[in-house]
Amino acid sequence: MNQQTLLENSKKHLWLPFTQMTDYERDPLIIESGEGVRLRDIYGNEYLDGYSSLWLNIHGHRKKEIDEAIKKQLDSIAHSTLLGASNVPAIELAKKLVEITPSNLTRTFYSDSGAESVEIAIKMAYQYWQNKGYTSKRKFVTLTNGYHGDTVGAISVGAIDLYHRVYGSLMFESIKAPFPLVYRHENEHLDVIRDEALDELHKIFEKHNEEIAAITVEALIQGAGGMNIMPPGYLKGVEKLCRKFNILLIVDEVATGFGRTGKMFAVEHEDVQPDLMTIAKGITGGYLPIAATMATEEIYDAFYGEYEDFKTFFHGHSYTGNQLGCAAALANLKIYEQENLIDKVQEKMAYIAFELQDIEELKHVGDVRQLGLMCGIELVMDKKTKKPFPWQERIGYKSTLRMRQLGMLTRPLGDVVVFMPPLASSKEELSEMISILKQGIEETTEAFVSVN
Ligand SMILES: *Cc1c(COP(=O)(O)O)cnc(C)c1O
Repeated sequence: MNQQTLLENSKKHLWLPFTQMTDYERDPLIIESGEGVRLRDIYGNEYLDGYSSLWLNIHGHRKKEIDEAIKKQLDSIAHSTLLGASNVPAIELAKKLVEITPSNLTRTFYSDSGAESVEIAIKMAYQYWQNKGYTSKRKFVTLTNGYHGDTVGAISVGAIDLYHRVYGSLMFESIKAPFPLVYRHENEHLDVIRDEALDELHKIFEKHNEEIAAITVEALIQGAGGMNIMPPGYLKGVEKLCRKFNILLIVDEVATGFGRTGKMFAVEHEDVQPDLMTIAKGITGGYLPIAATMATEEIYDAFYGEYEDFKTFFHGHSYTGNQLGCAAALANLKIYEQENLIDKVQEKMAYIAFELQDIEELKHVGDVRQLGLMCGIELVMDKKTKKPFPWQERIGYKSTLRMRQLGMLTRPLGDVVVFMPPLASSKEELSEMISILKQGIEETTEAFVSVN
């Protein structure tokens, strides 16, 4: 197809995820290729990948070792089912994942997306208690503003009004505990904000622990909820409360895993040991749809028995444990070791923190939040009062469109501009991205204020 036909057909036959199609029609983008941290569209325009192709990409595009691992696997087989049978790369990857995740996690259950890995964690936690005879433990606690994916189970433990409101009566009810949101809190002391949220959680656990199966929580930072970083010690506090009240801890590392926050997994920052941990996004370096739910031996044991015991975990999809995906993930993880990637991320984090100071100074930047290579820049009308822009103006969205014209792709979360470069980005590339970030924000916010 030529450029014109591609464009017409994209408008005529595609329906894009999390996208109002009139937005796409006004500002279409069709990617044709990528190399390193750059993407190229069908007209030959180049863009820096400022959001790691939606928080996935690690080593850049067309990484030789991953490309080759997939080709090599293709010479053996592309896919065979994991239902009742296993395969070579799935076994090797399972072992590797057990090695690199917290030491209490010993079992790998595969799936195809972050949302599915969460569905699995929910079903496992629920059935774990049923299998053990604690039949009243059926409820889930979740944090305000949390995001765990878009399927019906995952939205039931999520709490982002914009995405979840319409589906109200479809979802099961979960108990919402307050997230310790720092920006806009009337108190500025992190430990006060932390303890206040933990006290609330304590109350909920104390009152309802006999009905609660598990709590779902993102690791250290809420991603889609607006890049909100937890005060230090909060996640550790949640873990302690889970142990005290016999409640399973499900930690969602879908966005934070694989070095994104400066540790292989964000739970390592506070030495937290989840009962179930969900991983996806970076697992294949951003190549193929593999995800996993990591479980403890204790949880695994509750499902173990003869068929007649009816303890089997009835879940699995057509492509679960796909060989090409597992081979890509293995190659991805090998590069972390060969290139000492996590060590290198430390320098890049510091470099970004330094460069972002410039952005923090901008008149309409209310808050800059950064954990590792995960950054959110909150735009506000008034820096002092933290008054937001009118939502209809879509300042965040317009800023990112301007960045696209300037040569970088990213997507906002409302008026929080996301900056999440591939872990392999060089200092020069980071610097180029941050100057586009700055120019896009400055021009868009100033243009709005000058006419209003
Ligand atoms: C992206 C994300 C998910 C959902 O992952 P998908 O692969 O998009 O289904 C779940 N949890 C968190 C924390 C995420 O950031």
